[in-house]
Amino acid sequence: MTRIVNFSAGPATLPLEVLQQVQSELLDWHGSGMSVMEMSHRDKEFMSIAADAEKDLREVANIPANYKVLFLQGGATAQFSFIPMNLLRGKTGVDFVLTGDWGKKAAKEAARYAKVNVAATSEAEKFTHIPDRASWKLDPNAAYLHITSNETIHGVEFFAEPDAAGVPVVADMSSDILSRPLDVSKYGLIYAGAQKNIGPAGLTIVIVREDLIGQTLPNTPGIFDYKQMADNESMLNTPPCFAWYVSGLVFKWIKNNGGLAAVAERNAAKAAALYDYIDSQDFYRNPVKKENRSRMNVPFTLANPELDAEFLKGAKAAGLSGLKGHRSVGGMRASIYNAMTLDGVQQLLAYMKEFARTRG
Ligand code: PMP
Repeated sequence: MTRIVNFSAGPATLPLEVLQQVQSELLDWHGSGMSVMEMSHRDKEFMSIAADAEKDLREVANIPANYKVLFLQGGATAQFSFIPMNLLRGKTGVDFVLTGDWGKKAAKEAARYAKVNVAATSEAEKFTHIPDRASWKLDPNAAYLHITSNETIHGVEFFAEPDAAGVPVVADMSSDILSRPLDVSKYGLIYAGAQKNIGPAGLTIVIVREDLIGQTLPNTPGIFDYKQMADNESMLNTPPCFAWYVSGLVFKWIKNNGGLAAVAERNAAKAAALYDYIDSQDFYRNPVKKENRSRMNVPFTLANPELDAEFLKGAKAAGLSGLKGHRSVGGMRASIYNAMTLDGVQQLLAYMKEFARTRG
């Protein structure tokens, strides 16, 4: 077996131990005589898998009892619409702080249902920082303030919960959920597609304060209604059972590896290794303001973009994949989610140093 070092932005590398457990249980889950893919979601076997996953997620992320945890479908993109449908609660406006393309996409969808106020944006500086809190023009009557806690393309991350002056904060945590301890009580709603730090694509996690749900816009389909989903334990219809199961194993893996505090330490060490090297020379460059640099996605450019193709080809030959930057920003991007090891990052660094030495 040869596994490559996978720096893909998502779907992304998963913990090897989790994949091995999936492999060992694939044909016969715990003596049930079938795989999780073949079980009825209403049978006691799957019900126990689902309940365990929620219990472990609540424990790992320290989710207060007055928050519902929903296991949904449609990706983070579907939530761009479901959130305004569910959370406007008779209000008409929503605030957005934009720090990258994902926030822009979320704002565009929200604009179908609400008046979007861009309270602050760093677009004029190509999304290379988070606008100063003092410059945000928040609307005190907004239904919520939306942020993207980690902009996957631009590599810009919030490290503290934003102060929204009493308005509920909604955070798209698709690419940094469970990467460090978080205070859920500071948010109205947290959402994330699973395919980066949680598990396989197809599952979307929503963590929502229960007093905010149950007041959907008229004509909201039942399947998009958080309250109906919560009342039915996310099984109003057939859920993405297999993705739910694998995600549950990832939550256990986090628990067995020191919880989020230990995860955060490992992530800080991986990111520091990359940024310290990038800042120490001129061949590679990262444009993001230091205090806003993502610990999950490290974009970098080569001084001479004509070498990009050669860099990627050599990386592939060295067993390092998924490094091509997003088409909108170009260059490279190393996505180093929870399951990326420090050893993987060191292999990338060794390759980058050698490439710079021979081409620089
Ligand atoms: N938000 C962020 C921050 C993302 O990184 C992504 C996917 N890369 C999305 C939203 C869209 O997620 P999905 O493909 O699950 O709809």
